[in-house]
Amino acid sequence: MEINTVGVVGAGLMGSGIAEVCARSGLRTRVAEANDDALTAGRHRVEQSLERGRQGGKLSDDDVDTISGRLSFSTDLNVLGDCDIVIEAIVERLPEKVELFGKLDQIVPEHAILSSNTSSLPIIEIARATHRPDRVIGTHFFNPAPVMQLLEVVRTIATSDQTLEEARVLGERLGKRVIVAQDRGGFIVNLLLIPFLNSAVRLYESGFATREDIDEGMKLGCGHPMGPLQLLDYIGLDTAEFVCDALYQEYAIRDYAAPPLLKRMVSAGYLGRKSGRGFYEYEGAQKR
Ligand code: NAD
Repeated sequence: MEINTVGVVGAGLMGSGIAEVCARSGLRTRVAEANDDALTAGRHRVEQSLERGRQGGKLSDDDVDTISGRLSFSTDLNVLGDCDIVIEAIVERLPEKVELFGKLDQIVPEHAILSSNTSSLPIIEIARATHRPDRVIGTHFFNPAPVMQLLEVVRTIATSDQTLEEARVLGERLGKRVIVAQDRGGFIVNLLLIPFLNSAVRLYESGFATREDIDEGMKLGCGHPMGPLQLLDYIGLDTAEFVCDALYQEYAIRDYAAPPLLKRMVSAGYLGRKSGRGFYEYEGAQKR
């Protein structure tokens, strides 16, 4: 099946980036949001990103017009009735995703793929809400979606080979390098990343080294673009804690458990860049 029309549900941080990537790759892209305010904010995020591309010389005026012309926005899910694939990027809560997939199953054509951008929920639980579990798959993009090259495609025990192949082809068309993971907590990247980040927090918490030395150590010694504590501030400490909890629940392995300092910082509202304070302090433009 050739994918020409893509639906994206949820135009938050991830959904707006995914929609932009799809439209930039030549696909007709229909974005659905829960309400008008969120829709306006999502549309604004895409427009701002395209404008940055124009100002940076990566996109011409014509490019911006063409890409914008491929995008449409609505609060009515029924606009997704002609989509070949719908990528869900709504809030990370299973009941909401299950409800949405049940509705989408009724709206999209029989051949359509339904995919989730979930970072931590079992995709098979979402697939069960549909009559097409063989056509349900995970497409896990990374933040910011227009920039990050990786796409983790996640197959459940019910996903068909054809669905996997079609999702892989789509990922490549979007300019991503596709890796295939199993439907287990953390997929590939978070499964490896979270114990590393947690070790850095424990090292810092124990007073073993300063935040700067931990980060410099991994940047200059291992070639990482950001140190682990800087990366946690970028991800958001609350998001990191959420992923830790999901992994610990899945495997009951201590390395995945959120370190006490991380939990206390989240309780204190020290969430990283977005709140202006995490392991480091941020102000103004630095927060974004
Ligand atoms: P977000 O809070 O920025 O955006 C979620 C959006 O979904 C909001 O705009 C909200 O209005 C909308 N929404 C909620 N319920 C809806 C519904 N029923 N119908 C339509 N729209 C609805 O969240 P985000 O960071 O973009 O995360 C979205 C998903 O992507 C989550 O599953 C998350 O785990 C996953 N994810 C996030 C990241 C990240 O770095 N933030 C990375 C990879 C994957």
